[in-house]
Amino acid sequence: MNVLIVYAHPEPRSLNGSLKNFTVDRLTQRGHDVRVSDLYAMRWKPAADGDDFLERDRSRRLDLIADSQQAYTTGTQAPDIAAQQADLRWADAVLFQFPLWWFSMPAILKGWVERVYAYGFAYGVGEHSETHWGDRYGEGVFQGKRAMLIVTAGGWESHYAERGINGPIGDLLFPITHGILHYPGFDVLPPFVLYKVERMDEARFARVQQELGRRLDDLWTDAPIAYRKQNGGDYDIPALTLKPGLEEASLGDGAARASGLRLHVRR
Ligand code: FAD
Repeated sequence: MNVLIVYAHPEPRSLNGSLKNFTVDRLTQRGHDVRVSDLYAMRWKPAADGDDFLERDRSRRLDLIADSQQAYTTGTQAPDIAAQQADLRWADAVLFQFPLWWFSMPAILKGWVERVYAYGFAYGVGEHSETHWGDRYGEGVFQGKRAMLIVTAGGWESHYAERGINGPIGDLLFPITHGILHYPGFDVLPPFVLYKVERMDEARFARVQQELGRRLDDLWTDAPIAYRKQNGGDYDIPALTLKPGLEEASLGDGAARASGLRLHVRR
């Protein structure tokens, strides 16, 4: 299988750097082909702007969506964007590895998403009508591919638990797992999250390698998060609200009736 790792940490000798190297070695040993987009090492340009569209008419005001569509369909995107799109097409699975910074991904990785996810590629795909609101949330360019987050956090696991002050980790990562990954069609595996990482030592790192190794070995067999599909019959279209009576779904935490973000996960 082909695995793309999109990796965001500025220091190669960091914990994230060690985990990324471990992941590459493990997957390679198991016979997979691995490519790494090391965003800091590549000096990835994080800001989406008019320079991303090589033949844009500069006498007109910038329209990021329309210009993105035009450049994507005419093959006139900046080469770094097109190369990442080619790697995504090549991949059977994509791993996103990053430290949790301000409850989300580092800005350089967000910028990767904003630039690489062009209109016509990751969004604006499929029929848009009163009865079919695009191929998205379970359909789209990445349908059939798997994705997983590998995240390190300074906070304790309890801080990110159901009643933790930071909010549940599944909720915090929802804009990434549901918005950035499920939206264009990925099957999204539960994230691999390491907490309290400032207290890492060699003994714990050895245990972490075992746990991460298991997750990597099971990349193609672990069950994805059971996000509902937009066009799977659970939503009224075009309102795109969950149909009444489906609230019993939960994240498997024993809640009898789901609410909020959990509405979008089947039991
Ligand atoms: P490092 O600092 O490189 O290492 C962490 C520990 O692991 C160190 O003790 C190091 O010695 C050890 N280590 C490294 N490599 C190895 C190895 N090979 N073997 C054994 N031990 C090793 N945290 C939150 O929880 N929520 C937030 O919102 C949040 N926001 C942040 C915002 C910013 C701007 C920053 C800088 C940090 C924030 N943090 C937050 C903390 C952040 O998540 C952690 O600092 C980060 O996850 C640590 O990852 P690292 O790769 O930088 O670790």
